[in-house]
Amino acid sequence: MKTVIVGGGVVGLCSAYYLSRSGAEVVVIDGDPARQASCSDGNAGMVVPSHFVPLAAPGVISQGLKWMLNPKSPFYLRPRPDLNLMKWCWLFMRHSNEAHVKSCEHLLRDLSLESRRLFVDLAKEEDFELVQKGLLMLCASEAGLEEEAEVAEHANRLGIEAEVCDLDRLKELEPGVELAVKGGVWFGQDCHLNPSIFLAKLREAVVREGGEFIEGRVSHYLRDKGTISGVQLRDGVKVKGDKLVLAGGVEAPALMKEFGLKLPMQGGKGYSLTLKEPRKALQLCSLLKEGRVAVTPMGDQLRVAGTMEICGEDLSLNKRRIAGILESFVQFYPEFSKEDFEGVEPWSGLRPCTPDGLPYLGKLEKEPNVVVAAGHSMVGLSLGPVTGQIVSRLVSGEDPEFDLHQLRSERFG
Ligand SMILES: Cc1cc2nc3c(=O)[nH]c(=O)nc-3n(C[C@H](O)[C@H](O)[C@H](O)COP(=O)(O)OP(=O)(O)OC[C@H]3O[C@@H](n4cnc5c(N)ncnc54)[C@H](O)[C@@H]3O)c2cc1C
Repeated sequence: MKTVIVGGGVVGLCSAYYLSRSGAEVVVIDGDPARQASCSDGNAGMVVPSHFVPLAAPGVISQGLKWMLNPKSPFYLRPRPDLNLMKWCWLFMRHSNEAHVKSCEHLLRDLSLESRRLFVDLAKEEDFELVQKGLLMLCASEAGLEEEAEVAEHANRLGIEAEVCDLDRLKELEPGVELAVKGGVWFGQDCHLNPSIFLAKLREAVVREGGEFIEGRVSHYLRDKGTISGVQLRDGVKVKGDKLVLAGGVEAPALMKEFGLKLPMQGGKGYSLTLKEPRKALQLCSLLKEGRVAVTPMGDQLRVAGTMEICGEDLSLNKRRIAGILESFVQFYPEFSKEDFEGVEPWSGLRPCTPDGLPYLGKLEKEPNVVVAAGHSMVGLSLGPVTGQIVSRLVSGEDPEFDLHQLRSERFG
C-alpha cells in the first residue's frame, strides 16, 4: 500500500514520519522545495499545551477592531470584496464565544498534551533539541496580568500546569535578564525547538525508512473505477498511490475543489526575525501579552515573531507591522535595541486559519481513502506529531483514538 502525501510542511512531514515508521510506503509531494510558501520553517518553534483556547474566542473581535486602527498593531484584516473572506468572517464571528471555547477545550488540551508527549519521544530518537523549560506569558500591564491569571486558573482546572509569577519568580526562571513587566504566567509544560532543524530531521528519518520526496505541484487526482488512485502533477507526471493525505496548509481549499468541498480558510500572515548573535542569551521562550509577540531562543540564536494579518495569500512584508513587533520586543526586553535587527531579513508565513480555530482532520466522508490534515492556524508545529500519528492510524484503518467529529472537513457544509 502506497500513500501519497501532498504538502511537505510540518503536518505533511509528521504524517510521513509516522506512516513510514508504521511500515507504510510514502511519497511526499511539495511544489516548493525552497520552502518559501510553507509556513513551517520560520515560525516561533513553540510547543504549546498552554494554547487550549482557539483563535475564535470571546473578546477577539472587539480587540481586533481596535487594532485595525493602528498600523503597527499585531492584527489587521485587509477588507476586500471576496465572498470567501466574507463567509470566513461570518463563521469566525459565530464561533467567537464562550460556548465554542468550552466545546473544544478538552479536545485541544488532549491533542496538545499527546503531541507534547510525542515530541519528547521524538527528541530521544531523532537528533534535534527540544527545550523543556516552559513558556512565559509576560504582561506589561496590571490589566494584562489579571487576564492571564484567569487563563492560568482555567488552565489548572483543565489539568494544564500554569503558575502566576511575580517579578522575583520571573527572575528565578529567567535569571540575569531584565524584563520590563508587571508579572507573568509560567506554563511549565510548554517547550521550544528550532523548526528548521526539526523538519530536516523528519525528512532524513522518512528517507531512512524508504520514503520518497517529489518536487511538483499537484494539479488533479487520478481515479481507477471511481476510486482515487494517485495524483497528477502540473508537468504531467503521474504519481500512483492507494491512499491520499492532503496537507496543503493554507492552500488546502484548492486541493479540495475537485471533491466538491469548499473549505473556509484564510491566510493569517505573520513575520519572524532571527538574531544570529543576540546580545543576551535567553533561557525560556515567551509571549508578550500586550504586543502578541513570540520570543524564542533557538540554540545560540534568538527569534522574534508576531502579527496576524488576514490578507489572502499575500506574503509581502509590511514594514510598519514589523517595526511594531520590534518595538514590543525592546519594550519588554529593554537590554535589546531595535538597531540589533539592522540587516536581519524578515521571514513571512501564512498560518492556515479556519473560522473556528480548529484544524480539518479526518477522512473525507465521500472519499474514504483521502485524509485531510490542514488548518492548524497558530499551532501547526505544536500539533504536528499528534496530527501525524492520527493520519497514520486513519490511513492504516486503525482507531485514531480521538473523537474527530469536531474536526470534519465537511462541518461548514
Ligand atoms: C509568525 C508565525 C509564528 C508561528 N509560531 C508557531 C509556534 O510557535 N508554534 C506552532 O505550533 N505554530 C506556529 N505557527 C503556525 C505554524 O507555523 C503553522 O500552523 C504550520 O506551519 C502549518 O503547517 P502545514 O504543514 O499545515 O502548512 P505549510 O507549512 O504551509 O505546508 C503546506 C505545504 O503544502 C504545499 N502545497 C500546497 N498545495 C500544494 C499542491 N497543490 N501541490 C504540491 N504542494 C502543495 C506548500 O508548498 C507547502 O509547502 C506560526 C506561524 C507564523 C506565521
